[in-house]
Amino acid sequence: MKTLTGRDLAAAIRAQTQAEAAAGPQPRLAVVVATADEASLWYVRSIAKAAAGVGIACDVVDLGQDATPGQIGETLARLSADPQVHGLMLQTPLPAGASAQELAGAIDPRKDVDGANPLSLGRLAAGLPAFPPATAAAVMALLDHYEVELAGRRAVVVGRSTVVGKPLAHLLLDRHATVTVCHSRTRDLAAVTSQAEVLVAAVGRAGLIGAAHVAMGAVVIDVGTNPTDDGGLTGDVDFGAVSGVAGALTPVPGGVGPVTTALLLRHTARAANLP
Ligand code: NAP
Repeated sequence: MKTLTGRDLAAAIRAQTQAEAAAGPQPRLAVVVATADEASLWYVRSIAKAAAGVGIACDVVDLGQDATPGQIGETLARLSADPQVHGLMLQTPLPAGASAQELAGAIDPRKDVDGANPLSLGRLAAGLPAFPPATAAAVMALLDHYEVELAGRRAVVVGRSTVVGKPLAHLLLDRHATVTVCHSRTRDLAAVTSQAEVLVAAVGRAGLIGAAHVAMGAVVIDVGTNPTDDGGLTGDVDFGAVSGVAGALTPVPGGVGPVTTALLLRHTARAANLP
């Protein structure tokens, strides 16, 4: 079984991004935050640190956990209109009553580096240029990096969120895979997933995918990030059980995650260079 790590790929993407960022005016990413969720704030700090490492300015605009949808929407509209800002993202979770999908409509699609505006998903579905969500793009980048053949192959995505599952299904379809999307109402999940030649788990349930869910030799990408009791992270795939069956498997942490952050920065550098 081959372990498909993401750290080297992420480092290569960051190096390329650094060169792109240095070639023009300094790219600037703004991240709007309205939460006290520690895992979310940790992720934002890691984005800011990675941005600094590749020469991208990063402004964290913290509106506090009591921000109203109106305040968040106004902030996104103001930053969308600011010519100094090239990339804009809205971090989740949001305060009760605020819908990320509704609010992300205020992000200029040309600055929508995490593909959150429904227009970006629509353009992606229509095969038009758009920034895909960085996580979905990271899955594709890993598959390409490890030269996984997609055309004509059976791909199964578990999870249908607008941030991961749905955009990923479109990206896989664009690459001529035969795509099935599973979700919480799927009957006999293992019967469907065990048909996959390429299986992606994007659910948020530790160990949901076991050996019985995986075909012998399948390529398995684990998007899940589930906190463990000891403060670590674990994926949706039972790594120990599945490594005896899969042909290749991404680890958590160290698989999709680092590539996601690197691609968010690449999207920002590209947004800064859009004509
Ligand atoms: P989400 O919005 O909660 O969506 C979860 C999806 O899983 C839903 O479509 C849900 O089905 C489905 N699901 C739930 N229980 C299921 C079950 N028992 N069997 C089959 N499907 C089931 O989550 P998300 O935002 O897509 O994130 C998914 C995971 O990826 C989380 O662990 C998240 O932390 C992680 N993530 C990682 C990165 C990264 O960079 N590595 C980035 C983003 C997210 P329904 O639609 O029917 O409810």
